Amino acid sequence: MSTDQHATTIPVVGIPNSSAPERSDFIREIVAADLRNGKHSGVVTRFPPEPNGYLHIGHAKAIALNFGIASEFDGRCHLRFDDTNPIKEEQEYIDSIQADIRWLGFDWGEYLYFASDYFDQLYEWAVDLIRSGKAYVDDLSADEIREHRGTFTEPGKNSPWRERPVEENLDLFERMRKGEFPDGTRVLRAKIDMAAPNINLRDPVLYRVLHAEHPRTGDKWCIYPMYDFAHGQSDAIESVTHSICTLEFEDHRPLYDWLIENLPVPSRPQQYEFARLNLTYTVLSKRVLVRLVNEGHVRGWDDPRMPTVSALRRRGFPAEGIRDFVAMVGVGKANSIVEVEMLEHAVRDVLNRTAARRFAVLRPLKLVIENYPEGQVEEMDAVNNPEDASAGTRKVPFSRELWIEREDFMEDPPKKFFRLAPGREVRLRYAYFVTCTDVVKDSDGEIVELRCSYDPATRGGDSPDGRRPKATLHWISADHAVPAEVRLYDHLYSRSDPGAEGDLFADLSPDSEQVLSGCLVEPTLAELPLGETVQFERLGYFCPDPDSTPDHPIFNRTLTLRDTWARVQAQGRNT
Ligand code: ATP
Ligand code: MG
Repeated sequence: MSTDQHATTIPVVGIPNSSAPERSDFIREIVAADLRNGKHSGVVTRFPPEPNGYLHIGHAKAIALNFGIASEFDGRCHLRFDDTNPIKEEQEYIDSIQADIRWLGFDWGEYLYFASDYFDQLYEWAVDLIRSGKAYVDDLSADEIREHRGTFTEPGKNSPWRERPVEENLDLFERMRKGEFPDGTRVLRAKIDMAAPNINLRDPVLYRVLHAEHPRTGDKWCIYPMYDFAHGQSDAIESVTHSICTLEFEDHRPLYDWLIENLPVPSRPQQYEFARLNLTYTVLSKRVLVRLVNEGHVRGWDDPRMPTVSALRRRGFPAEGIRDFVAMVGVGKANSIVEVEMLEHAVRDVLNRTAARRFAVLRPLKLVIENYPEGQVEEMDAVNNPEDASAGTRKVPFSRELWIEREDFMEDPPKKFFRLAPGREVRLRYAYFVTCTDVVKDSDGEIVELRCSYDPATRGGDSPDGRRPKATLHWISADHAVPAEVRLYDHLYSRSDPGAEGDLFADLSPDSEQVLSGCLVEPTLAELPLGETVQFERLGYFCPDPDSTPDHPIFNRTLTLRDTWARVQAQGRNT
């Protein structure tokens, strides 16, 4: 759990050497060398989530790495649930993790495993360790074990139970398994070295008593293996060749190796560590994410402001954009914090190519064209995607009464405002030029309607006399507009390094979600399927939210159009 992910000593990464996805990294080089020199004849990796929460974008990095290596080197990647802590694990998480990995575009095929499948084998191996005098049952409490452990500068002290005879250990361990002892009263520990410089080798706990129902093994077990005892042995059972994990496990590697050496395991996996993904404005820790959900700070695990994979999906981020992003970040050994704008940039890059353009008005202002025939409707041809000719065109209805964006009009415009104003002509995209002739206000002085005239010679958006208005506005025919709710999303936290100055939860931004009602969208958007992201012209990228009903469509803003990261990157190139 990286509560210190935003420590000031960690550099923030904004500008990689190239925006092209990285093709290789130190782990891929190791794998290639192992295959070249015959250490392995094939590569087996695994992604080992603990089913105690939803996957987040950091996991996406680990997924892309493990599944990516397997596919590039013609190997296989297992999905293995590390389900050794039944207290925090749930079927809901197991299901969501599988759905998210598939959605990201990766496939474990037939290689789906659970650490709990190996509980019998792990138990036998624990007994083997006891028999060979390399493990013992300890009666110390958790606090006492901690006190005996020593510090980075001082060696630990042996437990008074360390020299128990093998027979007594076998008997006690058996009785632990049978449920004779309450939680926390006894543990099984490896007998390694209480003076080892690496604290992980100071007789680490291998098994604990936990009278808890397991999602898969039910009440069969009341002792559960610790992560360190389950992980490497599970790798070995599955013939994993390269066990890739994040840097915080580097100090566990000597224990990983010790267990592999001291147990009759069927293969010898090797652990490698890479730097975890950290993002500005983001906290990637399940402990924090679960609190955001349980304390009601967000709408759930898939709230579009969350950094979870299911939230990014609900927000309208395409899987391709996430894959591109993790490829851009690359795989290294040094911890860093990546600017979240880089993720947004990768997503915009995909959406700009693929998203259909549509019309929507978020804050509507009525515009009436006085010289346009009443009751007339014209079908205007609108381009679906200027980046993709094959996306074709669509018909958009045009009529005498339209909605435009309130902020596209100013009664008393300052110098640099080129949009609509009294007496001024603008282009309505794919339609006509209109000139504002009058402004209608209510009794409070609020503008409620614009009166305009149009030039019939400008149909399609060009004038035969070469006139070129300085602004082009989007619009929606009032008779055809579909009402909608639109949810605008921004960073969940108000500072780039949430929690750096105290309480993380105090840094939650009050403006991270803004709900707009009374928005209007073009008719084609009423049928937009879930999972499709479009561009509302001039406004940003949006997608339907699963909360939508046929009578009440809801759209989430995926991203605005502005790409600050591209600008930063361009500046970086110039200096
Ligand atoms: P968290 O610390 O966010 O709660 P975790 O590491 O406890 O996550 P696991 O389910 O144990 O979550 O993680 C599964 C795999 O994903 C592990 O191999 C872990 O190293 C990797 N992983 C977790 N977080 C990140 C991250 N931020 N960047 C890259 N890989 C990660
Ligand atoms: Mg973990």
